[in-house]
Amino acid sequence: MHDDALRALPKVELHCHLELTARHDLLKALLKAKGHSVDEAAFRRDFLITEPVEDLPTLLNIFLGHRDLLDSPEVVERMTYECCADMSANGVRLLELRYAPSFLCDAHAGMTPDNMHAAVMRGVQRAEQDFPMAVGLLCILQRIKTVEENRYWLDFAIEKKEDFLAIDLADNELAYGPETFVPLFDRAKSEGFAVTIHAGEAEGPQAARNIRNSIELLHADRIGHGVRILEDLDVLEFVRERGTVLELCPTSNWLSQVCPTREAHPFRQIMDAGIRTTVNTDDPGIMNIDIMDEYRLLRDAMGFTEAEFKQINQWGRDACFIPEARKAAVWP
Ligand SMILES: [Zn+2]
Repeated sequence: MHDDALRALPKVELHCHLELTARHDLLKALLKAKGHSVDEAAFRRDFLITEPVEDLPTLLNIFLGHRDLLDSPEVVERMTYECCADMSANGVRLLELRYAPSFLCDAHAGMTPDNMHAAVMRGVQRAEQDFPMAVGLLCILQRIKTVEENRYWLDFAIEKKEDFLAIDLADNELAYGPETFVPLFDRAKSEGFAVTIHAGEAEGPQAARNIRNSIELLHADRIGHGVRILEDLDVLEFVRERGTVLELCPTSNWLSQVCPTREAHPFRQIMDAGIRTTVNTDDPGIMNIDIMDEYRLLRDAMGFTEAEFKQINQWGRDACFIPEARKAAVWP
């Protein structure tokens, strides 16, 4: 498929962290407004992740650099709207955005969880008016926070049940296994939320087991990443039989050193093993990619055909948590 046809193909994006999607011109404008000079080389070094990063402090500093700039509801609304606009320009009809309400609010006195959420909703609603797309929100709980803190954010999501489709769990999956979070996800499920869990991404034998444990213990309807699934045949068979969809994010998986190059990503092997796979960006702004980059990678490095792209997006459409009537309105 040529780029134009590939761009026009109706797409589903299921795994995108809203806080890390800011356009570079937005970040640069915010830097200027704070009186910083904007040198291109320094910007790339301080704000983008374009090569695998070995040390965690560097990575953390880049995340915090974004967080510190995204300091008001106006900025959050603009970032949300522009993220949707960029996705729509690349053919995304169904978009799920996820965010951790604690992440930005922890740093900015002028932003409360309520007014930040309202800003996200305004951005989404404007985008849905302007573009042929449906957008859904997911609330992220963080493994690094205590169960008590996460219970607070789950209550926050329950209070806004009209706006959130699902609950996610992110951060270090090896240090913080699924067991601790069982009561929270029992509650999330009984409140009617869908569930997706970051699992099977980190290095180590436990990561693949986490995929199955997240489904069995935390009611995961989908798995964020799950790219380590080929490392455990029992887990592979379990997920294949259930038809659980994996939210694969090729560039992100390369940057977190799952594979030595982007081209060596095991996307095709996972799909050929009978697993339902989808293509996602994870953190497009910070990783300097858009969804078309991921499709081009599959086309050019892995030989994906139009029929295969349609199959992937059909799985994505089926597994998307947005209600069917809203899906049908933008993708008959
Ligand atoms: Zn993620």
